[in-house]
Amino acid sequence: MTATIIDGKQVAAELRAGLARRVATLDFRPGLRVVRVGADPASGVYVRNKDRAAQEVGFDSATIHLPDATTEAELLAVVAGLNADPVVDGILVQLPLPAHIAADRIIAAVAPEKDVDGFHPLNAGRLASGQKGLVPCTPKGVMHLLRAAGAALPGARAVVLGRSQIVGRPMAQLLLAADCTVTIVHSRTRDLPAECRRAEILVAAVGRAGMVRGDWIAEGAVVIDVGINRLADGTLTGDVAFAEASARAAAITPVPGGVGPMTIACLLENTLEAAVARRGEAARMHPGEAALPRMA
Ligand code: NAP
Repeated sequence: MTATIIDGKQVAAELRAGLARRVATLDFRPGLRVVRVGADPASGVYVRNKDRAAQEVGFDSATIHLPDATTEAELLAVVAGLNADPVVDGILVQLPLPAHIAADRIIAAVAPEKDVDGFHPLNAGRLASGQKGLVPCTPKGVMHLLRAAGAALPGARAVVLGRSQIVGRPMAQLLLAADCTVTIVHSRTRDLPAECRRAEILVAAVGRAGMVRGDWIAEGAVVIDVGINRLADGTLTGDVAFAEASARAAAITPVPGGVGPMTIACLLENTLEAAVARRGEAARMHPGEAALPRMA
């Protein structure tokens, strides 16, 4: 079997185009504020990309760049100001924060209805208890990719490799909400390859280059590789040994060009959802705006 490549760039572009069409029907511009603290160069790239993508779909977007020496109290005051600002629908505090600031306290200070990262404990709790709320962007993007690939979700055996707050756990909750039979595996799991081989849908989010080998993959599985690992030569690679896995999977995401582009697209989707929910503008949107087309 040679796997179909799930093209995250294409699915993300379609999602962004759909969002831009929806924004054009509103009589306000959804407001996104990205807060960056310090000079971490990777964060600089991420923040610029988010800002550009937000502008492209027609949002009122701006970055607030604070110096490295910003205190936790000062950052909390900035967040409080954004919480209170009526033109701001979505707030994203770029992680990691400098070591002297407790990220947990900052995340918990963002108004849950503006928490477009979906990291606030209230939103995590809503997801875990099957209630509506803002959902973390990367796992949300994975669900879009699975649907675009035509994966049959109800009843499917899904294995999530990794249990972080930002990927593994919410990923498992979303798959459960889609009626998959979900197993979460992690660093203390016995016999990881055997657990992964049971998966009809395998989502790898560990941060270990090429850890998932071809013989961990069941024939015909759908494999989503969330991992982003930089090799010594500077190239990016995923958690899945792509060539080996492609020989067994039915469909697979590449790295780069798979999950990565979906994360920003879902940040935009969350911001639009937050804006519509907060401003009560649902009635002004096109009813039944096209869902993402299926790739297969
Ligand atoms: P993380 O917080 O470091 O969590 C990694 C998870 O993998 C943990 O649950 C850990 O298990 C598990 N793990 C680590 N080594 C393992 C091993 N040898 N065997 C089994 N399990 C192991 O990472 P994360 O934030 O979830 O990110 C995971 C990957 O996704 C990273 O490569 C990251 O760069 C990437 N990522 C990509 C996007 C995107 O937009 N595409 C977004 C976010 C993250 P324990 O809990 O037992 O320690």
